[in-house]
Amino acid sequence: MNSQAGNRAMVLGGSMAGLLAAKVLADAFAEVVIVDRDKLVGVTTARRGVPQGRHVHGLLARGQQILDELFPGFAAEAIDTDIPTADLGQLRWFFNGLRLRPASTGLVCVSADRPVLESHVRARVAALPNVSFAEEYDIIGLATESGGRRVTGARVQRRSAGSTEQTLKADLVIDATGRGSRTPAWLETLGYARPAEERIKIDLTYTTRHYRLPDESILNGDMSINPVSTPSHHRGAFFSRVQDGRSILSLTGVLGDAAPTDPDGFLDWVRSLPVPDVYEVIKDAEPLDDPVSFHYPASVRRRYDQLEEFPEGLLVLGDGACSFNPVYGQGMTVAAQEALVLRGHLRQGMLEPLVFLKDIAGVIEVPWQISAGGDLAFPEVEGPRPPEVQMMNAYMALLQSAATRDGMVTRTFMRVAGLVDPPTELMSPETIYRVLKNGTPPRPGSAVPASAGAVR
Ligand SMILES: Cc1cc2nc3c(=O)[nH]c(=O)nc-3n(C[C@H](O)[C@H](O)[C@H](O)COP(=O)(O)OP(=O)(O)OC[C@H]3O[C@@H](n4cnc5c(N)ncnc54)[C@H](O)[C@@H]3O)c2cc1C
Repeated sequence: MNSQAGNRAMVLGGSMAGLLAAKVLADAFAEVVIVDRDKLVGVTTARRGVPQGRHVHGLLARGQQILDELFPGFAAEAIDTDIPTADLGQLRWFFNGLRLRPASTGLVCVSADRPVLESHVRARVAALPNVSFAEEYDIIGLATESGGRRVTGARVQRRSAGSTEQTLKADLVIDATGRGSRTPAWLETLGYARPAEERIKIDLTYTTRHYRLPDESILNGDMSINPVSTPSHHRGAFFSRVQDGRSILSLTGVLGDAAPTDPDGFLDWVRSLPVPDVYEVIKDAEPLDDPVSFHYPASVRRRYDQLEEFPEGLLVLGDGACSFNPVYGQGMTVAAQEALVLRGHLRQGMLEPLVFLKDIAGVIEVPWQISAGGDLAFPEVEGPRPPEVQMMNAYMALLQSAATRDGMVTRTFMRVAGLVDPPTELMSPETIYRVLKNGTPPRPGSAVPASAGAVR
């Protein structure tokens, strides 16, 4: 272990972003403490601090690659523990009611319930000798010195009767408390500017139920069936086999539409999807729980990279820095990419917060273009639509149409949406040729075309 970076690092929030940050911090600090309001160690079911964990969580291919890099043998371990995996391009994808032609992408899609995936990551982190968990502590605020110029720890309080506030000291504090991160408010209290926020309002609701299929052969060997919400077909769904012979179905309603949580209403909504495939699979399946819903009002990108001042000893990452429309399946993968940025900074012995925040903005940029740009293909979504966004969305509609006929286009699309290849691959001469040859332009007067993304 290289302990040069400092004695103790503290990670606020022990979800995916916090765990991945802790993993790379453990190589540079003598001690890493993860603080969370929930009980974490050994938990394999949904927990209060991560309510989105009840809903489908696809791990993008790039995220899977990084998990395998940080935790060697991660995918193999998943397979050993009965977590289904498949080639990303072989899943049953539908855009605008049409199935994408299956293709080999060479990318593994790991399909576990979110709490199970997190528990595998957490077990690897918990096995590190210098990482410990301060569980069931509320994070109340930062501890600072030098008039707020330097963060020296966090003020926390145990969630038990009679406990009082205490200060945990650290050389570095990482805020990984998610979308509800209070760093903007903390900055303001310390006399700094708050980061500007970019918001794309999508008014999305996930409604989710688990099933056991009487006979999995009804899936014809497919791991997942995903009719994706698009501007012309608003209702979408993600159906996946997960661990332990269970399946999960998340219905996605946008722009205020939401699948009901009563069983009959839920089933009716499934019937209203643009393709019958999901209904056919679940209509005779055994429901394992009641439907639950989660409302996601808007994607939010906090522009920490544009700040001119930031306290020493504090970093922010994960959903606290950028929360993406979840249908694009990007959040955990971006958190993993940010962990690699952190590792790079630690290896260079450089922990300059503003430089780090600018560097993770570089990681955030492409997935934000995919998801925020993609949402702007819905005419009802408010936001600026510069010519490049309009052009990209028109091109993506053509590309998705071409992918229903040409597996090479599916392959290129999946590799870009999986954050493995850069978006420039979509515009390579060969891809443009295939798109123009096989794509059908949207009819004049028909709905604004679907855009990139919504692929995990
Ligand atoms: C419906 C939905 C579906 C999604 N689907 C996908 C998907 O398919 N693929 C994907 O990659 N991502 C998906 N995401 C995003 C994904 O959930 C997050 O990107 C991911 O969990 C990383 O977030 P995080 O670790 O930054 O924060 P979170 O996961 O929100 O975790 C924050 C942690 O901080 C703790 N915490 C917060 N405040 C305090 C406090 N004051 N005191 C103590 N503890 C605190 C919480 O208990 C929690 O453990 C989805 C999100 C939603 C809403």
